[in-house]
Amino acid sequence: MKESASTPPRPAVPAAVQHWPGIVEAFRAWLPIGDDEPALSLMEGNTPLVPADRLMDDIPPENRPPGLFLKFEGLNPTGSFKDRGMAFAVTKARNEGVRAVICASTGNTAASAAAYAARAGITCYVVLPAGGVALGKVAQALAHGARLVQVEGNFDDALAAVREVVDRRSDLVLVNSLNPNRVQGQKTASLEIVEQLRAGGHGDPEAIVLPVGNAGNITAYAMGLREYHGAGRLSRVPALHGIQAEGADPLVKGHPIDNPTTIASAIRIGRPASGDKALQVVEETNGSINSVSDEEILTAYRLLAQKTGVFCEPASAASVAGFRKLAAAGTFRGARGPVVCVLTGHGLKDPETASSQAAQPLAPPVQATAAALAEVLEGAPVP
Ligand SMILES: *Cc1c(COP(=O)(O)O)cnc(C)c1O
Repeated sequence: MKESASTPPRPAVPAAVQHWPGIVEAFRAWLPIGDDEPALSLMEGNTPLVPADRLMDDIPPENRPPGLFLKFEGLNPTGSFKDRGMAFAVTKARNEGVRAVICASTGNTAASAAAYAARAGITCYVVLPAGGVALGKVAQALAHGARLVQVEGNFDDALAAVREVVDRRSDLVLVNSLNPNRVQGQKTASLEIVEQLRAGGHGDPEAIVLPVGNAGNITAYAMGLREYHGAGRLSRVPALHGIQAEGADPLVKGHPIDNPTTIASAIRIGRPASGDKALQVVEETNGSINSVSDEEILTAYRLLAQKTGVFCEPASAASVAGFRKLAAAGTFRGARGPVVCVLTGHGLKDPETASSQAAQPLAPPVQATAAALAEVLEGAPVP
């Protein structure tokens, strides 16, 4: 539409739309980085906080917190929260003159490391458990030119081997979440949640629910929230609830799992590197560690896609499955603030699970005629 003399002037779009500088610039004051140190960024972060009260429809009203939100981390540049940690870890590695980074990965760390290393112009080695990584993630690592090594065994075997290599090779920097810069970058999601809730007039969060694999992310959230609370920017540290998949739930069982199994490949981890820290932070925040079955994960996965329009990968749906279980048990009765479920990765990462779990199978093609369509469409016939 053309503006004319009679059209009232329209307001400018909000500043946040015009410029988001990525997490290192946006949170520079909260990260261990010098004022003059350059930031590497794919403009990650600033992911949406999506209201999702519909996911509580079948939960008794007295058990519902005042609001449920999804922090959709699948909308980061490579489709997972790993981009926050990688932006900062690769910023630091590049600024220190490192030539190559390496990681073991269930997929998303590989995709993210590959992208950020490509942008930094440094070599990226990724070590993957053969057969244990969703297709989209492998495709990403290949697209960005990472050197892929598949190893026999699971993620825990891959990480153990990588850690040993890094101990012997000072030219390689490990970018798994054992790298403290990863945790620093990832804590920024928790600060965004606090700011976004406040900006929306929803108050401070009562609890944050997130899937737990190697346990770096829940540790990062705890760090960010404590720092914010310590600086007087948050009234209370929310409860952190970590969700594992049954079959890959060493923190629930209290011992390592040798052969972890679950459809949620991103959290198919039996020896979480930061497991002790995770147990500590859930205790200190009055949160919990729980597990959900693959069936519960898939129910949440479908519910998310079909009732909220948000498509995440199975590991991410574990947070919603966990939330629903906790809510049903009365965990959020009397909650003072909303609950946030973190959706860690995008649904497109794992097309195999998406197709096999579809509401309807893809039917064979019909003729491209109105008559043929009329036969398969529901409702009124095509005139
Ligand atoms: C890495 C990852 C997780 C697990 O995070 P940890 O820090 O290993 O606990 C969960 N979901 C997705 C999609 C991931 O990529």
